[in-house]
Amino acid sequence: MVQPSYFSNTANTQNKKAFVIAGPCSAETEEQLRESITQIKQYAPQVNLLRAGIWKPRTRPNSFEGIGKKALSWLVDAGRAVNLPVSIEVAKAQHVEDALHAGVDVLWIGARSTVSPFIVQDIADALKGVHVPIMIKNPINPDLSLWMGAIERIEQAGVKDIAAIHRGFSSYNKTMYRNVPHWEIPIELKRQRPELPIICDPSHIGGQRNLIAPLSQQAMNLHFDGLMIETHYDPAKAWSDAAQQITPEKLGEILTSLQVEQKEANQADEYPQLDTYRTAIDRLDNYILELLAERMNISQEIGDFKRLENIAIHQPKRWAATVKRALAFGKNNGLSETFILELFQKIHNESIERQSKS
Ligand code: PEP
Ligand code: MN
Repeated sequence: MVQPSYFSNTANTQNKKAFVIAGPCSAETEEQLRESITQIKQYAPQVNLLRAGIWKPRTRPNSFEGIGKKALSWLVDAGRAVNLPVSIEVAKAQHVEDALHAGVDVLWIGARSTVSPFIVQDIADALKGVHVPIMIKNPINPDLSLWMGAIERIEQAGVKDIAAIHRGFSSYNKTMYRNVPHWEIPIELKRQRPELPIICDPSHIGGQRNLIAPLSQQAMNLHFDGLMIETHYDPAKAWSDAAQQITPEKLGEILTSLQVEQKEANQADEYPQLDTYRTAIDRLDNYILELLAERMNISQEIGDFKRLENIAIHQPKRWAATVKRALAFGKNNGLSETFILELFQKIHNESIERQSKS
């Protein structure tokens, strides 16, 4: 029998599959922790694990960088008082040692650490021979290999209970999100590592309170295994990430109204109507693939021709016209501009690859 993961939630009857982690962005004072945690227990009894940052990796210096070591016992004591385990972020071997010594139950590696194989390896070495569940946030850049590499380093240290946390990805462009979700990345992680629990952190994706509920629901719709939500008894006064934290009362409301529909529908005949749709989709997918293959073969021939005639591979005017035509078609047929643009960029890149190689 497969050992149930630390992060699979079977005890939670209200939200069957969501493993919920809540607590403030940062530990600020002993009272702030105690008050936030007592209220979490009161308003959101579904919560499975508490969180608080003790050492804070801030993008710019001279802002609040965490209370440090002395907050460890505040957090552990506040957790014990409500009978809940606690978790913190670690970014180096010394953090691991201090956290375990203080009795912290679960550790996580933050986005700014996952980007560095040196840091991850340093943490992995400190974890050898230790039995503690570890959560690994995605790196700040949208790089699945780097995320998987960090997971593998921790696995190789012998850690058994591992979960990934999706917290979105930095982008230079301003978007409605603080960190762009790129849902396709955690979805691909799940495809490659189906047994690995993936928890969504809507707080760092959204960056603002009003996005927590829709993002949490979106995560459930996409089959995530849990949520990590920053929760503070007085969010507006928080010393870090004030705009994205919610009250324990609000957390309780969000968790109660969450639709956790995790029903699998993989067997043929189970839902005949769904089967009909899926047969149609499979037929169209095959057709799309055949057309793409045909398109790439023509690209290749064009490549040979261009080489013979000394014509440049990339023709900016021709490309601009192609995109314009595709966007106009998309607009008339209810296909979003971003979707069409990204699709055509992918196709164009592949064409250029082919023409460069041929
Ligand atoms: C956090 O969880 O408070 C944090 C710093 O997150 P991230 O590593 O996702 O930025
Ligand atoms: Mn935070």
